[in-house]
Amino acid sequence: MTNHYDIIICGGGLSGLFAAVSLSHPFKVLVIDPDEYPRHKMCGEYLSAEVYDLLKSQGIDLDELTPAKISDFEITLRNGSRITSPLPLGGYGISRHHLDHSLYQIAMKRCDFVKERVVDLQSAGEVQTVITATDSYTCDQVIVATGKRSILDKKLQRDFIQTKSEWLAVKMHYQFDMPSDKVELHNFEGGYAGLSQVETGAVNLCYLTSYKSFKKFKDIDTFQREVMSRNENLKQFFETATPLWDKPIAISQISFGTKEIKNTDFLFIGDSAGLIHPLCGNGMAMAIHTAHLATLQVTEYLQGKTERPGMIASYSKEWNKVFQSRMRYGSWIQKILIHEKWTRRMYFLLSKLPFLMPMIIKKTHGKPVLP
Ligand SMILES: Cc1cc2nc3c(=O)[nH]c(=O)nc-3n(C[C@H](O)[C@H](O)[C@H](O)COP(=O)(O)OP(=O)(O)OC[C@H]3O[C@@H](n4cnc5c(N)ncnc54)[C@H](O)[C@@H]3O)c2cc1C
Repeated sequence: MTNHYDIIICGGGLSGLFAAVSLSHPFKVLVIDPDEYPRHKMCGEYLSAEVYDLLKSQGIDLDELTPAKISDFEITLRNGSRITSPLPLGGYGISRHHLDHSLYQIAMKRCDFVKERVVDLQSAGEVQTVITATDSYTCDQVIVATGKRSILDKKLQRDFIQTKSEWLAVKMHYQFDMPSDKVELHNFEGGYAGLSQVETGAVNLCYLTSYKSFKKFKDIDTFQREVMSRNENLKQFFETATPLWDKPIAISQISFGTKEIKNTDFLFIGDSAGLIHPLCGNGMAMAIHTAHLATLQVTEYLQGKTERPGMIASYSKEWNKVFQSRMRYGSWIQKILIHEKWTRRMYFLLSKLPFLMPMIIKKTHGKPVLP
């Protein structure tokens, strides 16, 4: 393996793998990620249909991956009341185990992979250097796709990493009987839980809670019993669902919102550019979409049509144009959902004016992205 590449992608999650596949013709691409494939990842696993065509353009036919096809949304409150609504665009229930691995199988045939963690990046003139614990690699352009939070963010002294985040998330697959065409969002004190089927027929439970709400309890089981089960729908779920894994996946320190992507020499994509609140259910689609936007920009740069500062500025401008308002709506809805009084008011309004629900959902989603 020679050590100079056109592009090095730090992080081989959804955004990194999609960028790798898109850029591998005509460029020489290296992906660096410490993870094994396939692997489970923290995620609600509801994929918005807006990236169906984009994925297809790079060889991922979602229909062939046999996901659950999801057309309806249901939200329940702590007191058990519920509202259902059609999803304007719809989506797919597909595990990250399956989706990321499908992308990886294409990428591994076309790109080089190194199983390591990137610890530092340097930029000097036209050449950029990527440093891992044991080696270093050079390229014309680095793309950072390291997700929500990584040691690289610390090394690059990114602003968001200085602030402590109050959110933690838990995920687990269960055997449970629920309609395959529905995604459910259940509200509880300090957080909310998503339930939807994936391609195996398993039901994915993924919830987000504030650390303040969680810390009074010693462990996940007690929290689920004492807090989440106050919502009758979740109580019934926990009493009848059978866990399919030995233990859940749990992560903390999740920072939402936009991150600095402008005053830098590197291109940030996916969650490393910004993470929308998970209740919107389109972080994955956004991650793939950002990889597409970066692909267009970096292609022009490598073909000599732009300079690096112009490329970064164009990407940042496009990112804001496409995602800024969705991020804002996501943040407002999240604020409402963690306050019981506001949630009840929202419920009252939506039960009187049900046509508002699809309108709100549309505000946090995009139109289908064409290749
Ligand atoms: C609780 C929760 C629920 C969610 N539910 C949904 C949902 O239902 N639908 C939806 O669309 N979105 C959802 N999301 C958002 C979605 O999971 C993310 O937006 C998506 O995973 C972003 O992909 P990514 O490629 O940016 O990051 P990731 O998929 O996280 O990939 C990052 C990769 O970088 C690697 N990495 C990290 N550090 C380094 C390093 N130093 N060097 C090299 N590699 C590194 C990691 O190993 C990883 O493979 C949810 C998020 C959360 C937190």
